[in-house]
Amino acid sequence: MTGQIILPGSSINGQLATLGVMGGGQLGRMFVHAAQRMGYFTAVLDPDPASPAGLVSHHHIQTSYLDEQGLAQLMQRSAAITTEFENVPAPALLTLGAHRPVAPAADAVAIAQDRAREKAHFVRCGVPCAPYAVIETAEQLAAVKDELLPGIVKTTRLGYDGKGQIRVKTRTELAAAWDELKQVPCVLEKMLPLKAECSVIVARGWDGAMVNFPPQLNLHRDGILAVTQVYPDNMPPALSEQAVKATKSIADGLQYVGVLCVEFFVLGDDSLVVNEMAPRPHNSGHYTMDACDQSQFDLQVKTLAGLPLVQPRQHSPSIMLNLLGDIWLAFKDSPPWDEVLALPGTHLHLYGKLKASKGRKMGHLNITGASEAEVRATALAAAKLLGIAPF
Ligand code: ATP
Ligand code: MG
Repeated sequence: MTGQIILPGSSINGQLATLGVMGGGQLGRMFVHAAQRMGYFTAVLDPDPASPAGLVSHHHIQTSYLDEQGLAQLMQRSAAITTEFENVPAPALLTLGAHRPVAPAADAVAIAQDRAREKAHFVRCGVPCAPYAVIETAEQLAAVKDELLPGIVKTTRLGYDGKGQIRVKTRTELAAAWDELKQVPCVLEKMLPLKAECSVIVARGWDGAMVNFPPQLNLHRDGILAVTQVYPDNMPPALSEQAVKATKSIADGLQYVGVLCVEFFVLGDDSLVVNEMAPRPHNSGHYTMDACDQSQFDLQVKTLAGLPLVQPRQHSPSIMLNLLGDIWLAFKDSPPWDEVLALPGTHLHLYGKLKASKGRKMGHLNITGASEAEVRATALAAAKLLGIAPF
């Protein structure tokens, strides 16, 4: 179904207008918070009774993503439905989309779920990606060109936070890596010398109107986002402009509705190469919650509800520090939040996860301030308190 305007606080069939979300992780939780602040009721479908979004939603449907009754309940509750993780089964979105506005749509999500299809889409949109080869068969493995080595083998599906990826230097290592990944469909990407990484988040409405946040400068450690920095001239202006333009053409090419994030590599010669896209709000956009007049989650709500999209304005320079489970493991009891929150311009976001493990995203800390220098000094002080390596 295509979108219609769902006014906040309106009543539909005797219940307050409700927005639904497939998936109950932290992104769903922040969507739920944004929707509730605007007066919507929310419904989350996630099998985990302790899911971060399920815990704070008006309704929590605890079934698997393909459970017919669960999907029927979600549709019965919700005027429109979005997703918060890209691995939600495409057939479930198709079922929902037949009866309710669903954004993003199943076909856009299906492309983003598959690295090979995703790369083909980038190429179609005229945005260069790293040289790569698809490996689905032993013949394709044997035919891989030497110039793709050293490279990274990535499963085409279900990878995140660097999972499902193996770095290889030789053909022997490549074959061993494909075996280790159980010979599932993969891509081999040439390892590129990265000068920097950045991402751009856009929101596109049912009518094709599009707004964007400024490009985010991202630092990854061990394949996981660690730090995002956003302030004027965080990147050469020409590069920023190019990244925004590329993201918009990728979104237009998909007829995308909702919030989309595209990640890029910046190479030594300041050329831009697209890495991947996420059909949802993105970790690198969490700073928008405190540094912009609308957050990426506000825009997810607005696109879903068919509300007008107004270009967001960043009002403060900002740095985001990801808070991984490693911090909890190091402090055993609790990280020193009292000391962190004594620093000016710190905004703590924890996702309500009880169990910390290495690399698990437990929350993030946004830092805002009057200048880049001020934000940086505070961010480094907070990082030091938390045992996060300086950047
Ligand atoms: P997520 O979904 O959490 O963003 P992911 O598991 O999908 O991560 P990628 O974005 O493909 O993984 O890669 C994770 C990180 O690994 C990148 O941000 C980058 O730092 C590094 N990386 C990936 N591909 C390459 C490449 N071809 N050359 C150099 N570095 C790379
Ligand atoms: Mg990535």
